[in-house]
Amino acid sequence: MKRRREELEAALLAEAKAAIDELLDWHEETEAPTLTQIEDVVLDLRKQLGERMTEVVLEEQEAVRPVPGPACPECGREMHYKDMKGTTIRARSGEMKLERAYYYCKDCHGGLFPPGSTAEAENAKLE
Ligand SMILES: [Zn+2]
Repeated sequence: MKRRREELEAALLAEAKAAIDELLDWHEETEAPTLTQIEDVVLDLRKQLGERMTEVVLEEQEAVRPVPGPACPECGREMHYKDMKGTTIRARSGEMKLERAYYYCKDCHGGLFPPGSTAEAENAKLE
């Protein structure tokens, strides 16, 4: 568990460093920026970093494929792992594309990406 945390920390630090490097590059290249210009750059980097951080944590969740599968929201029977599928997730920290385990109910022919909240996000995207 500790090792896993260290790996995640390294991944998150790398994302944060990339954002900081981008800010410093911009800072060196930009002569006398206004407060608004600085804010624009920082807010954009904050958004990007938020998305990357969400991805790192979500992908870590995905590393553990639930067995048994989640209960079908329609019939309550166990859903079965089907495949890894690319999906777009619209989260409060932004929109991101990632590979997630997809579960399917053979009785209801419905599918979802656990945990449920991301399936809701997926449904929201389709509306
Ligand atoms: Zn079902």
